[in-house]
Amino acid sequence: MSQIEHTRLLVIGGGPGGYVAAIRAGQLGIPTVLVEREQLGGTCLNIGCIPSKALIHAAEEFDKTIQYAEASPLGIRVHAPAIDIERTVAWKDGIVQKLTRGVGALLKKHGVKVVRGEARVIDGKTVEVSATTGGEGPGEGQGERVRIQCEHLLLAAGSEPTALPSMPFGGKVVSSTEALSPKSLPKRLVVVGAGYIGLELGTVYRKLGVEVTVVEAQERILPAYDAELAKPVADALAKRGVSMLLGHKVLGLSADGEAVRVQGRDGSETALPADQVLVAVGRRPRTQGWGLETLQLDRNGAALRIDDQCRTSMRDVWAIGDLAGEPMLAHRAMAQGEMVAELIAGKTRRFVPAAIPAVCFTDPEIVTAGLSPADAEAADLDCISASFPFAANGRAMTLEATDGFVRVVARRDNHLIVGWQAVGRGVSELAAAFAQSMEMGARLEDIAGTIHAHPTLCEAVQEAALRALGHALHI
Ligand code: FAD
Ligand code: NAD
Repeated sequence: MSQIEHTRLLVIGGGPGGYVAAIRAGQLGIPTVLVEREQLGGTCLNIGCIPSKALIHAAEEFDKTIQYAEASPLGIRVHAPAIDIERTVAWKDGIVQKLTRGVGALLKKHGVKVVRGEARVIDGKTVEVSATTGGEGPGEGQGERVRIQCEHLLLAAGSEPTALPSMPFGGKVVSSTEALSPKSLPKRLVVVGAGYIGLELGTVYRKLGVEVTVVEAQERILPAYDAELAKPVADALAKRGVSMLLGHKVLGLSADGEAVRVQGRDGSETALPADQVLVAVGRRPRTQGWGLETLQLDRNGAALRIDDQCRTSMRDVWAIGDLAGEPMLAHRAMAQGEMVAELIAGKTRRFVPAAIPAVCFTDPEIVTAGLSPADAEAADLDCISASFPFAANGRAMTLEATDGFVRVVARRDNHLIVGWQAVGRGVSELAAAFAQSMEMGARLEDIAGTIHAHPTLCEAVQEAALRALGHALHI
């Protein structure tokens, strides 16, 4: 066993949390080693955010051509469009490769030592790595084991898909990972879970011509968002021909494996024929199989418990990203990683964002930051809220995107904005305006008094603030 004597910071996991922490640590001159057992970039770059958004875009483009072939009000006509899914996946893989190589180059540039292999925690200052790739550097020889000692241990091992006990992964039952790299398209797809993954990928497959049925345990789709936001998405899915079975429980595959057996609240059973089944019922922090239990860290449910500096219950052992629970979002992992590196460098930081924006890349998209009207009420805040519909926005009309609205929530006493929500085509790009206004402590008057370029969808942001003040101009 060869040994790296010592490093100041050891990061386990090269996803957005871990690699950002390592880059920032490198910038700050902290000797840093990062251990990654698969590909740099983690879930986000390889099997999550980026590949899903690539396929969403490809499906959207294909869907447009289908609509044009059928009859477009814009006067565009195309004939017999077809999709070569292998080529689509290869294009998506090209983007992933470019980004993961970029992460490798950035880590190198900032002097971070990357060790390829599976990390096993020995104690709070020692990790053993079984190398997985060939190479000449420490930990790069195939099968070689390396012991690394550190002053600070940063746990950023991410999360993995939750399996259904009644229908475990295998064969035709797949997770998002397989659904993001189809070799061919199934004729009939059953999606279990109408959350982020189920609806983002369910929409992709439907747009590519697959018959899609979504089974959801709750009584409505996207239960994490308020009903008003989820409604335009539900309407669009129905219009697109996606079948929805709400309030249904999955019993498992039928005896011949050809269908998914589901049960309604009234006890009635239905068999849904399926060539493939995508199970997307949530993700769980990856806490098992790599010696983490030896540290006996405090937990918050399945996740590691951390404080507002991402410290675990053990001194100089930190945790970030999905391993530390909800919200399991890449930008939250990155922000935490950056902060931990700065804390180790001696800076004063706390993780107390005014808002962590969230986007659901369905069609239409949903974006939220801060509190919804119901959240504000539950927090005993006396708030006003107002919406502005895209139906009254000129730019939305020119984009054939008049479904949806922007909503603002602000304190009644001083008009401080405490939340934003929007649903509509392309509203993911409003995430920056929403989060910035909240981080800067904006009041309704600040947004209402800012000149918003015309014609843009962003004018609905200004109009929502004007409406909350009682004097919207265009409605
Ligand atoms: P991860 O990205 O999971 O990285 C953890 C890394 O640690 C992995 O590379 C893993 O191989 C490595 N690792 C684990 N254990 C060990 C070990 N013992 N030794 C060595 N290495 C180890 N979030 C968004 O914000 N926007 C989106 O649009 C979005 N879309 C998504 C779509 C899908 C299909 C999925 C599945 C997720 C999506 N997410 C999205 C969530 C996002 O991917 C995660 O929140 C994010 O990747 C978490 O980052 P992380 O660094 O905590 O963990
Ligand atoms: P999710 O929590 O978004 O949705 C899971 C859905 O499955 C919920 O609606 C839940 O009610 C339902 N469900 C749970 N158990 C069920 C059962 N037995 N039968 C039927 N339905 C059941 O989880 P996900 O879609 O798997 O995504 C996992 C996580 O990945 C998300 O929470 C999010 O943090 C992240 N993600 C984010 C994005 C994004 O930011 N755009 C995209 C994809 C994934």
